[in-house]
Amino acid sequence: MLLTDQLLLNYKRCRRRTYLEVYGNREEQDPEKEFLLKLKRENQLHIANTLESKSLVYQRPKGKNWLLNWQQTKELMEQGVECIYGGSLYLSLSQWQTSIAIKDHNKDHNDDSNQANIAFLGKPTLLIKRPGKSIFGDWLYIPINIKLGRRPKPEYKLIAAYHAQMLAAIQGVLPPQSQLILRQQNTYQIQLDYWLERMHSIVAECIAMLMAKQEPEVFISRQRCSLCNWYSHCYNLAKSQQHLSLIPGITPKRYESLIGMGLDNLESIAAVSQDHLEEKIGKTVAVLLKQQTQSLLLEKAMIRADYNLQHLPPTSPIELYFDIEAEPDRQVDYLLGVLLVDRIHNTKKFYPFLAEHPTEEAQAWQQFWEFVSLYPEAKIFHFSEYEVETIKRLAGLYQTPKSSTQVLLSRFVDLHHWVTKTVILPVESYSLKSLANWLGFEWREAEGSGDQSVCWYDSWLTTKDRTFLDAILSYNEDDCYATYYLKNWLVEFLNQSEFDPVKNSEIS
Ligand code: SF4
Repeated sequence: MLLTDQLLLNYKRCRRRTYLEVYGNREEQDPEKEFLLKLKRENQLHIANTLESKSLVYQRPKGKNWLLNWQQTKELMEQGVECIYGGSLYLSLSQWQTSIAIKDHNKDHNDDSNQANIAFLGKPTLLIKRPGKSIFGDWLYIPINIKLGRRPKPEYKLIAAYHAQMLAAIQGVLPPQSQLILRQQNTYQIQLDYWLERMHSIVAECIAMLMAKQEPEVFISRQRCSLCNWYSHCYNLAKSQQHLSLIPGITPKRYESLIGMGLDNLESIAAVSQDHLEEKIGKTVAVLLKQQTQSLLLEKAMIRADYNLQHLPPTSPIELYFDIEAEPDRQVDYLLGVLLVDRIHNTKKFYPFLAEHPTEEAQAWQQFWEFVSLYPEAKIFHFSEYEVETIKRLAGLYQTPKSSTQVLLSRFVDLHHWVTKTVILPVESYSLKSLANWLGFEWREAEGSGDQSVCWYDSWLTTKDRTFLDAILSYNEDDCYATYYLKNWLVEFLNQSEFDPVKNSEIS
């Protein structure tokens, strides 16, 4: 078995993913998401731009398979070439074990791995020659990894330390540095003392898990799982197990506390005493969790126990429902979509302010601004903080006066905030899609998502095929409609509950 840097990086994000990559049934994997393929292409472009901007003259091993690539990389290192791009590093298990200082607390793991048919493979983006003594002569190599991320994430640091350790075994001396080059082409130095030690123990744990074939438990986390191509497999398993990670608000830490109390299903959480639950996870979380489990078991919407019914979301004759399509990494907001709802004349019309090219963002902003200024009394409903942050960004970028921006923002009403502060719903997540689906609303673009919209925009820019723009417009319009239906439902539900407390637990 080859322990690659990619397996190790996945292990840092989700242990189960590494297990599935090695032992999972490939037929159960989802096809790679278009958004991920796009990120991979951008990463390649970022590497090419970095090499060019730093005027790096490199040699590249031509071997397609990893073994040939490694042999050629080693030859290039022996020759002392200045920069090797796209090389491989390889170690047998005994070479790895000799190169690391085996800590007592890792002894068991290493005993396991002694039995293992395991080897180590790493692919640093660059190997750069530096003065120093090594088995090659008066030079040594340091690893550099070029990443598209903005921040030096822990998993990047782990892999940088892994490459440094492999080089130590290969060249007979630990490289003095291991670096990351990030999105803005800024260089980040890894603290090798700290990360080497952490990496040793993570590698040992990972090997132990793989050798023992211990399948880590599923835990669905929206942020971590959304781009994983084992998602359908894991989600179906979690569903079949009625896994607690499908309950909103259950974090890995809270999950451990609940399991520690012997609470592993909805019924047991609903049955446990409030006081007992509060002792373990705190009062506020316990109250919410109790209500959430009740809502899921009864499949009913409920008013939050701590909500004061005197406050309702505002309603006005003209209302605007606002949603943005954006590529935050590139800092481009390419569509500002507004649904105008006239409650007096009972009409609805969608107004898209679209930058057909990123350079037209200023024009879209200007048109949006003029439009919302036509309805100075209208509240502007949106879902999540992103819209407010974007208005601030665009206003700053295009020199809109601060006082006018403040007036505009005072009209904004965050429906996500209203929903989560007032009601508990029988859903797995409080995302717009999950809530609107629960209401029976369906998007015309069934595969639509924020990430997919970014891919459509990219495809539009490269192909000029307007069907991609149409898909973005349709998806954004439906986001606005979903926000509108959600707001209607919420006001109606809260109103009914106000007049008839008995209906507190009924879906209107
Ligand atoms: S879907 Fe989530 S739990 Fe499953 S392997 Fe991927 S990241 Fe891990």
